Amino acid sequence: MADPQSKTVTVVGGGLAGIAAACALADSGYRVHLLERRPYLGGRASSYEHPGTGEVIDNCQHVLIGRCTSLIDLYRRLGVLDSIRWYDRFTFLTPGGPPSVIQPGPLPAPFHSTLAFLRAPAFSLKDKLAIARGLSAFMPGLPPDTVENFLHWLHRHGQTERAIDRFWKPVLVSALNEDLDRISVHYAAKVFRESFLLSPQSGRMGIPSIPLSELYGAATGYLRDRGSEVSLRTSVESIAPSPNGGWLTTTGNPEIPAIPSDAVILALSFEAMAALLPALPQNPGSQALDANLAQFEHSPITGIHLWFDREVTDLDHAVLLDTTIQWMFNKSRLQPTHRSGEAATSSSSSRPPAPSSPCSASPSSTSPSRSSRSSSPPSPRRSCSKLLLLKRLGLPIRSAPCSTRSARHPPAHGPASSSPATGSPPAGPPPWKAQPAAVT
Ligand SMILES: Cc1cc2nc3c(=O)[nH]c(=O)nc-3n(C[C@H](O)[C@H](O)[C@H](O)COP(=O)(O)OP(=O)(O)OC[C@H]3O[C@@H](n4cnc5c(N)ncnc54)[C@H](O)[C@@H]3O)c2cc1C
Repeated sequence: MADPQSKTVTVVGGGLAGIAAACALADSGYRVHLLERRPYLGGRASSYEHPGTGEVIDNCQHVLIGRCTSLIDLYRRLGVLDSIRWYDRFTFLTPGGPPSVIQPGPLPAPFHSTLAFLRAPAFSLKDKLAIARGLSAFMPGLPPDTVENFLHWLHRHGQTERAIDRFWKPVLVSALNEDLDRISVHYAAKVFRESFLLSPQSGRMGIPSIPLSELYGAATGYLRDRGSEVSLRTSVESIAPSPNGGWLTTTGNPEIPAIPSDAVILALSFEAMAALLPALPQNPGSQALDANLAQFEHSPITGIHLWFDREVTDLDHAVLLDTTIQWMFNKSRLQPTHRSGEAATSSSSSRPPAPSSPCSASPSSTSPSRSSRSSSPPSPRRSCSKLLLLKRLGLPIRSAPCSTRSARHPPAHGPASSSPATGSPPAGPPPWKAQPAAVT
């Protein structure tokens, strides 16, 4: 586009991708119109008001690492980077065992976590040697993307069962929310290189200290200040070539006439994209795109919010080993309680209502088993400690966007392998290598 000042772009979808695209374009001088179907920005990275307490609760925990430089750049632009708290200390807990703390020490990268690993009681010497051998394979660079799944790779590289269960698996499940036999070696290696090998800064973890809707709601003011528009409750229904050149975007919002623009960006989840595809101009690539979209599936995760009437831990977060829960986030320490109407940002007026999503199960929807687990959230004054526990469900599902984390990388990596993990990789290409249907 030659002269950004005279160009307009319609961005469809006000999730993280649409927000990032819209802000980058507005910064470069384009006039942007961001269209979002829901009454708030943020998409899957959003918050809602808990009906029992009035507290604003995130749609599950969202974290980033120092290596997520584009996201950090977006936070900087939006003026919310100070709302990210950084941690380079990770605590691995086993039931009844002493904690293992992994953190950078005095050695230079890629050996900065070595001393902490050597001291960690969660691993035997044999486990530690196996982990060191495995990590060292990724030091020279990323392996190519092949059909081999990561569980197979781990066995091929002599990893002990405990090293797999207590190190490789918890890290990867947290980062990619997938089982090891459904993750490609290339993407697994990327996680470990960036989290443990590149530098202490690359691997540190950032956790928002404000609700997600506040974090991403800042985009509304940012875009409007740059002469761009944001329309909420505006679902795009079709896009067609304009007789005057460019594109005409039609929405279901009666207050918004068809929007002309020089370019359109679709920043949608795979199923929203598939739903819109028939209403887009058809071309030889449409069929291939449709076939590609049909290969994606969601990988569900459950976030369990628990309110306690006393402090139950002084840790901000921890990796939980040898249990069915993978992570604990101490929300009362990480994010001071926000109540409906408290946040003074442009997003507060459009905060989402409580979802029907099973993603965030309130205590009232989980079965109380001990007195410390309330059957309904205690009143705000009595609630001293609020934990969020994350548990991967392990069942791929095709269409339930509110309850799931999306396939952030090429979709499911490898078939749910029926081959023994120590045997050959499964025959035939894994789904992420499958070819789209023939294009006519
Ligand atoms: C429980 C959970 C935990 C996660 N944890 C992490 C984490 O820790 N770290 C991390 O990096 N990522 C995490 N993710 C992933 C992250 O949330 C997503 O990758 C990211 O939010 C996807 O953003 P997106 O813009 O691509 O899609 P979406 O968020 O799905 O945004 C698409 C938007 O398009 C809108 N839309 C759909 N159809 C239309 C239409 N026709 N017209 C207009 N608008 C439309 C939707 O309403 C939606 O707002 C997590 C996700 C979940 C669900």
